[in-house]
Amino acid sequence: MKALIYKGPWEMTLEEVAEPKPNPGEVLIDVKAIGICGSDVHGYTGSTGRRWPGMIMGHEFAGVVAAVTDGVSNYTVGDEVVVSPMFSISPTPETVPMNWSPNRRLLGVEVNGAYADRVTVKASQLFPKPAGLSWQQASLCEPLAVAMHAVQITPMDIMTDVAIIGSGTIGLLVLLAAKLKGAGRVIVIDKMPRRLEMAKQLGADIVINAGEQNAVDVVRELTSGGVDVTLEAVGYSATAQQAIDITRNGGNVTWIGNSAKMIEIDMQSVVTREITVRGTYAFTDYEFGKSIQAMAGGRIDVQPLIEKVAPLAEGPAYFKQLASGEIDLVKVVLEP
Ligand SMILES: [Zn+2]
Repeated sequence: MKALIYKGPWEMTLEEVAEPKPNPGEVLIDVKAIGICGSDVHGYTGSTGRRWPGMIMGHEFAGVVAAVTDGVSNYTVGDEVVVSPMFSISPTPETVPMNWSPNRRLLGVEVNGAYADRVTVKASQLFPKPAGLSWQQASLCEPLAVAMHAVQITPMDIMTDVAIIGSGTIGLLVLLAAKLKGAGRVIVIDKMPRRLEMAKQLGADIVINAGEQNAVDVVRELTSGGVDVTLEAVGYSATAQQAIDITRNGGNVTWIGNSAKMIEIDMQSVVTREITVRGTYAFTDYEFGKSIQAMAGGRIDVQPLIEKVAPLAEGPAYFKQLASGEIDLVKVVLEP
């Protein structure tokens, strides 16, 4: 079968490799659509160190069950499925949500993933794909689940003022999820006019170009003192601080961005203004299932985010262009 092999910083090739064999309890998946994630692009440049040379990346995907093994009872060959990349290596059932578990592993990050014709996964990672959901849309279920989890764990009253910092895939999906949860005015902050334009198209009430305007001043003025809730989807000191500065006293800040390991922020501002800051990571099976349901039922439309669909073989070229900034596309979906 064909697969994209990550060879090292800025190097990826399409190669012929042996088809993986499913172990008991696993299934073989014929990959139909797989999204290029920003974390893969950062891994490709070597900047995060979270990918290893020789591996097959890829964790946002859907496909058809091509083979089942002993111990798999609820799926058969031909079933159309969306796959959660998260699984547990614990020999006993997990006692905590899987995204908290030390036994959690991520397909395409810690083990070979799905930039390939076929991949093996545990049957527990499968969710049935509704017929009305396209393969391309289904491949966005994983990032949507990340956004759904962030919004799910963030206290948010109906019609509350919400700010989102960062309008990459996750920031834009957080916008859709926040509106689904009943947010009032949603303000999106970024520095890229193209992304802000898309945020508007997806329903943002106000967009602020932080490269041109002082976002903190603008938000404070618009909201008389700050928004109730801010979700940060960038992950550096400056934006983490900005999230605190644009939130009202007693408000909630949720950090999704996971870029810098150490940051510097004004702790006194958090303390004296009684801001609650929380982290959010990945998702639970509950939110993964609800993401499928929201897309299939027409409550969330991810189609505008899919700006390019290309064959798997063109993957290396897209990685190079996305990493160098030569092209800016919210979501590129590859079709093996
Ligand atoms: Zn991802």
